[in-house]
Amino acid sequence: MKQKLITTLASLGAMLCSASSFAAQTQVIYAGSMLSGAEQTLEKQQTIVIENAMISRIEEGYVSISELGLSDATIIDLKDQFVMPGLIDMHVHVTFERDANVNPHRWLTEYEADYALRSIKYLQRSLDAGFTSVRDLGSSYKVIFPLKRAVERGDISGPRIFAAGDTITPTGGHADLHGYRKDISDVISDGLGVCDGADDCRRAVREVIKSGADVIKITATGGVLSNTAAGVSQQFTDQELVAIVETAHNLGRSVTAHAHGISGIKAALRAGVDSIEHGSYLDQQSIKLFKKHNAYLVPTLLAGQTVSQEVLSNPHMPVAIANKVRAVVPQVEASFKLALKNNINIAFGTDSGVSRHGNNADEFQWLVKYGMTEKQAIRSATIDAAKLLGQQDKLGQLSVGKQADIISVNGSPLDDISTLKNVQFVMKAGQVYKQL
Ligand SMILES: [Zn+2]
Repeated sequence: MKQKLITTLASLGAMLCSASSFAAQTQVIYAGSMLSGAEQTLEKQQTIVIENAMISRIEEGYVSISELGLSDATIIDLKDQFVMPGLIDMHVHVTFERDANVNPHRWLTEYEADYALRSIKYLQRSLDAGFTSVRDLGSSYKVIFPLKRAVERGDISGPRIFAAGDTITPTGGHADLHGYRKDISDVISDGLGVCDGADDCRRAVREVIKSGADVIKITATGGVLSNTAAGVSQQFTDQELVAIVETAHNLGRSVTAHAHGISGIKAALRAGVDSIEHGSYLDQQSIKLFKKHNAYLVPTLLAGQTVSQEVLSNPHMPVAIANKVRAVVPQVEASFKLALKNNINIAFGTDSGVSRHGNNADEFQWLVKYGMTEKQAIRSATIDAAKLLGQQDKLGQLSVGKQADIISVNGSPLDDISTLKNVQFVMKAGQVYKQL
C-alpha cells in the first residue's frame, strides 16, 4: 500500500512537471480578428506571443517564428476566428445547479464531497463556454475553497475562482437556512455567515475571511429563491451594513450586496458596498448613490428569465417563492435600462446555478436586448468585470503583460452577440483547454 502511494505521488509529480514545462513552451497565435487592448479596438491579422502564461508580444500581421526571433514555438492558427479575452462571470454558484426535478431534501443525505464532485462538471462546462474566471457568491466554505485550490493546482479543469464562501446574512435573512425545525437547522448548518447587530456582523465578516473569502457577499434585502414570505426589502440595519463594509475594507476585501428592494439597495450603497447584485428596483436616488460611490451593478438578467420560466412549468415551486418571482422579475428590465441610460458601471453576472452552468453566455442576449451595444456587453464581461474584481492589471484584456486568457468564436460578436454561445477555442493562463 505504501509503495503504491509513493508510486502514485511520483507519477503525479511527473505529470505536474510536464504540465508546467508545457505552459513554459512559447506559443504563437495567429488571430484573424482580435479585440485589442484596453479600448478593445478591432484589429485584423495579429500575432500574439505567449510565454510563461502571459501575453509577451502582440505584432501586426502574421509574423513567422524566425521573424519573431524565436528558436521554437507552438503555432495556434486562429486566422479564421474572432479572438478576444477570456470571459468573466461575476456571479455564479459553482457548487449547485437548480433542478426542479431533484428532491429538494437531497442535500440532507449528502456529504460535502458529493457537492465538490458534482461541481467538477459545472466548472468544466463553464470553462468550455469561454469563462476563464468566475466569482462565486455563495457556496459553503467547505466545498468552494477546496475546489478553488484544486483548479489552481491543475487537478481539475475550470475557470479561475474568486470566492465569497459563506454569505453574510441576518438571522432568518435570505441566505439563512429556511424550512426546518430549529433544532434540525442547528445540526445541518453551522451558520458561519449569520449575524445580528454591528459587533456580531464584524465577527462574522472576520470569520468568513478567515475561512478563505476573497470577497464578502451579503444579503442586504430579502431574496426571491428563499422559501420565506419575507419580501425583498432591507434586512440588515444601517448600522450592521456600515460595520460589515468597514470590517471587510479594513481587511482588504470588497463587499457585494445581494439587493432587490430599493430601501436595501440605497442603504447598502450609503454604507459603501462596492457592488449591487440583481438591483431589481432602482430609482433616480439610487442612481445618484451608485455614482457617488462609483459602485457597480451586476444585473443577473438570466436568473430572472430562468425562474420566470420555472414558475410556468414547475407546479411544486413553493408559493412564497412563486409570488416573489411574479412580483420582482417584471421590474428588472426598467431598472436595468435606467442604470444603462445613466452610465452606471455594469459588470456581467449570471447567477449560474440558478441557470445551467455552461449557459452563462445566454446573459449577453438579454443585455443587448435591453439596450447595451454588443461592445458594451463584451466590456462588461471582460474589462469592467476585471476592474470590479480588482484584477485589471492581470485580466480582462488582450495586452502585453496580461494573463493569456484567450478565447475565439466563429464570426464577430460585435455583429451578432449570439456567436459567444459557441466558443471554439479556450486558453487560460497560457494553457489550451479547448480547440475545435
Ligand atoms: Zn446568487
